[in-house]
Amino acid sequence: MNINENFLKLEDSYLFSTIAKKVTKYQNENPDKKIIRLGIGDVTKPIVPAVINAMNKAINEMGTAEGFRGYGPEQGYVFLRNKIVENDYQNLGIEADEIFVSDGAKCDCGNIVDIMGNDNKIAITNPVYPVYVDTNVMAGRKENIIYLDALEENNFIPQLPDQKVDIIYLCFPNNPTGVGITRKELKRFVDYAKENKAIIFYDAAYEAFITEEDIPHSIYEIEGAKDVAIEFKSFSKSAGFTGLRCAYVVVPKSVFGYDKQGEKVSLNKLWNRRTTTKFNGVSYVIQRAAEATYSEEGKIQLKNNIDYYLENASIIKDGLKNIGFTVYGGVNSPYIWLKTPNNMKSWDFFDLLLEKADVVGTPGVGFGSCGEFFFRLTAFGTKENSLEAIDRIEKANIL
Ligand SMILES: *Cc1c(COP(=O)(O)O)cnc(C)c1O
Repeated sequence: MNINENFLKLEDSYLFSTIAKKVTKYQNENPDKKIIRLGIGDVTKPIVPAVINAMNKAINEMGTAEGFRGYGPEQGYVFLRNKIVENDYQNLGIEADEIFVSDGAKCDCGNIVDIMGNDNKIAITNPVYPVYVDTNVMAGRKENIIYLDALEENNFIPQLPDQKVDIIYLCFPNNPTGVGITRKELKRFVDYAKENKAIIFYDAAYEAFITEEDIPHSIYEIEGAKDVAIEFKSFSKSAGFTGLRCAYVVVPKSVFGYDKQGEKVSLNKLWNRRTTTKFNGVSYVIQRAAEATYSEEGKIQLKNNIDYYLENASIIKDGLKNIGFTVYGGVNSPYIWLKTPNNMKSWDFFDLLLEKADVVGTPGVGFGSCGEFFFRLTAFGTKENSLEAIDRIEKANIL
């Protein structure tokens, strides 16, 4: 067969493999050193008891004649879609048939390209979560991408596109910069989308970490967003489901695209068609697990975990600030985005931090050219390690 040649246009991603290689080499050369890994983008706390109990119950049901379930609805069970609407979209006018339950926001962000026309112009922020770029390159749209630079002088909130685009990918609170977007700033993007008949793909995977009042938990808090935005949410970071796998997409029935004749077409209908054709639903047990995150005890247990990570974030952020670093993020997000000292390249800072403090982070340039001279640390480690990392960085005297 011939291959999809678009795959040959992908840039190789060596970020995490290069980090792993460097760390292994360093550890082999320094076997007695205890390395602290603050580069990790995965949760570490175990699944909370409320979720474990719900899964156990669902597993046992599956072993009984009355409780057995085969294929479920492709869009997700109504019990879960209702819980999502009641809890995450209270008073926002989102309905259960606008929720599509899936096995991950990464897949959803990648699959959404199925319903996009080939000639759309696409705006993607720089630095960025690589999935948005690579999935568009695979679909043959490499030349259609323009980049919105997220710069320090704008607190890493990108400017509006300076030309007409059809699709804008936004992720807030942001990975990797850790910054949140205010309602006022997000409103500018919604207004732009309305004026330009554009659609916003809004990745809200880190919504659960929001602590500040003026940061929206959903793009649908913004007036007009229900006509122009698709939202991606995930239980991965909010409930530690990175290994269990459950997420959802919100496609309001009021969001439309256009065919070649300029006729409006419902994106909810297209996404429903795509989902029922290519997907057979998330497992019953996992959907019961996701449902349990909305129970009273589940909410309390999960808030404890989020608070734990957020405490780590403030330990790292405040600690670095006291040492004299310039730091961003870490307030509405588990990510701390630090400016490398003395205009050091982000890979040079990686080496320095590893050698002087035995601490591993992620070079900002790995997320895009605008990440150069920045460095990402994460709050997903333990409190002890977060404290010790700061202590070591201070003693290493690297400023
Ligand atoms: C972790 C993460 C997700 C979640 O992906 P899942 O497939 O649901 O685990 C989505 N977007 C961003 C930016 C992330 O960092």
